[in-house]
Amino acid sequence: MWIFKRVVDIQSYLQHKAGLKLSIGFVPTMGALHPGHIRLIEICSAKTDVSVCSIFVNPTQFNDKKDLEKYPRTIEKDIQMLANAGCDVLFLPDTREIYPQPATTHYNLGYLEQLFEGSARPGHFQGVCQVVDRLFAIIKPDETFFGQKDFQQCMVVQRLIDLNPAFQNIKLNIEDTIREADGLAMSSRNSRLTTQQRQAASAIYKTLVYLKENIKPGNLNALLDDAAQQLTAAGFVPDYVALSNVGTLQPVETWDGKTPLVALIAAFMGEVRLIDNLVITD
Ligand code: AMP
Repeated sequence: MWIFKRVVDIQSYLQHKAGLKLSIGFVPTMGALHPGHIRLIEICSAKTDVSVCSIFVNPTQFNDKKDLEKYPRTIEKDIQMLANAGCDVLFLPDTREIYPQPATTHYNLGYLEQLFEGSARPGHFQGVCQVVDRLFAIIKPDETFFGQKDFQQCMVVQRLIDLNPAFQNIKLNIEDTIREADGLAMSSRNSRLTTQQRQAASAIYKTLVYLKENIKPGNLNALLDDAAQQLTAAGFVPDYVALSNVGTLQPVETWDGKTPLVALIAAFMGEVRLIDNLVITD
């Protein structure tokens, strides 16, 4: 596996590959890799000729400074995992390589920025767009691979692609959420949970399944209240619990029994904020 730290170096390597008509696949990450990330790399390697992973803890997408400081960093282990997974290239830039000048572009994300992660984490999706914009411009991928675990982020990345004519040909692949045996979605932040918190944390997935199994046409508020109570009983402080239209992410208060829905949860366990979702197809 090649490891590049500088933009000029990875660009000249990838330009050569693109000149040979090889397809480039790209998986952006913030490191502290787990099997969810590795699955993205494996799919990327299977579908494209040159698989590129980036590891960069992007400061501009953290609305909470403490979260940034405490974000886990396990670079030696990450490199080993990527090499074992057959990743061809790791891009490991520092902040000056990504932001030689402070990022100032504002992205028109419309209502996506007012919902859920957008409203709960002001500026978060602008930061995501800043880093993904820069990384796409450097890597020039043919295909990119993101996890459905960050459902709203996938919609934001599609919007970023649609906004920039230079990105029109990038295919966004959205891959299934990889879970622990008890259903907890794998996340770099899970390592910050105590043993006791980790045990309780499966309540998020259990609550998503409860929503899926108990949904009925009509007003959904009582069901959502039940779900929030289940999270609270397990020791979470819910941030939001919602049922939304899967295509638009707009919350649905009264369900017609047909519209495909996604259940979305964000909740704090102590200082650690976890998110997850489950598509509810009828
Ligand atoms: P992160 O490093 O957490 O920013 O995540 C990098 C990519 O991995 C994003 O596209 C995430 O959606 C994806 N990802 C994170 N956790 C999982 C998971 N449990 N299963 C599948 N993909 C994931």
